Amino acid sequence: MNISVFPPPPLRGRLGGGSLPTAFHPLLASPLKGEEVNRASLRCRRVQILILSFTLLFSGCAHAGKVERSKSRREKDPFEASTGGVLFSKSYEEKLGQEVKKEVLKQYKLYDDSDLLAYVRRIGATLASFADRQDITYDFYVLDDPLINAFALPGGTIYITRGILTIFNNEAELAGVLGHEISHVVERHSMKHMQGGMATDLLWAVFTKGREMPLGIDIGRNLMMMSFGRGDELRSDALGMKYAYKAGYQADQVISVFQEFGRRDQSFVPEFLRSHPVDENRIAQLGDLWALVQTRQDIPPGASPLRTGVEEYEKVVFPHTYRTYFPQVESAMREMIAAVGRRDLEGMMSRVDRKFRSSWLNLSYKEFKKSYEDRFAATERITADVQFDAFRFLALDAVSALCRVSETRVHTDGRVESDTTAEIATFVKRGKSEGDTGAGWRLISLEDPSKW
Ligand SMILES: [Zn+2]
Repeated sequence: MNISVFPPPPLRGRLGGGSLPTAFHPLLASPLKGEEVNRASLRCRRVQILILSFTLLFSGCAHAGKVERSKSRREKDPFEASTGGVLFSKSYEEKLGQEVKKEVLKQYKLYDDSDLLAYVRRIGATLASFADRQDITYDFYVLDDPLINAFALPGGTIYITRGILTIFNNEAELAGVLGHEISHVVERHSMKHMQGGMATDLLWAVFTKGREMPLGIDIGRNLMMMSFGRGDELRSDALGMKYAYKAGYQADQVISVFQEFGRRDQSFVPEFLRSHPVDENRIAQLGDLWALVQTRQDIPPGASPLRTGVEEYEKVVFPHTYRTYFPQVESAMREMIAAVGRRDLEGMMSRVDRKFRSSWLNLSYKEFKKSYEDRFAATERITADVQFDAFRFLALDAVSALCRVSETRVHTDGRVESDTTAEIATFVKRGKSEGDTGAGWRLISLEDPSKW
């Protein structure tokens, strides 16, 4: 297994600004340095619009939904695929898929682990064998990206991120999401969007073979595409469930995935997720679909009993997720907070990596230390506590945890101050190899929660 440390999430959040932090705010730091932002910005500029359009178009996969849109004649049988009604030829669709694939691979790295890829492909291929469309080749890839996402390209290429793999608990959940993505390809949703004239930037990319896109094609158009995609999301929920069921999976497990998305909507999630929350209707409809599919004589379950696949998933995927390191990360932060409570500067700083610094606030390890020296000097007593709401996998040796930190300071002049702040702490594991537990985890930075 050869995994490089993933660079800080590029261009997805607010790049600076915001009010100055309170309680632990000297910790607040962007993992993305100014120069890196600029370089990343330049590098991505050319493909940004195209990729963004696909991110928006397909990232809704996990999140969008308005049940009203599905109240068409097709609702009579949600498990019947609608593969027709597209003017573009299959070869055109495949050509477009290849073009977009090139752009995706400029933006993302593939996750470099053959066992994990083989596992995802095996499940994907099984599901695809039940797809209502068999005139194209379905192919599956894992992207080396910590964000939670899954999307399908025209022509059958399906991507999932390693970020999304960290939120699944079993194989049936993964199968549910892959089945959903396959369904977008089955019903040729992206081609239907193009046909509707909503994706001229994509057409431009194909017809001009990568020449600069004209100005004026902006995100607004992509957002419009997104809203058009909501009915398609519900269609794909139904077909995806059917394929997972026919493949022998406990297909209602996908409901847990959407509930998890819904839960994350309330805390900190990427912006594209926030703008397309999972609503109760979508969860309810998935429940209805699950009840319905089991009554259908024409849709036989692929196994009895149906499979959840917890053990296999844990064995293959968990070593690639933060879950392995979860307790160590928590204890590192707790030790640091405890040291703050004891006004133990040395103890606290021993948990902070010396590389810690921020380009936003221009903090350094030294300045960070100084800020706590000052704080300790002005206070009689500090009590601090930390709660962990979620974790995000960044790389084998870096994990981000969403923390809510409460701090009460009793000053020497009798004043009492209390703060609770939410922040994302990024920890790195100090050690030369995977097996080396070394000195445990150190805090390297705090991120902007809006980038979560
Ligand atoms: Zn979708």
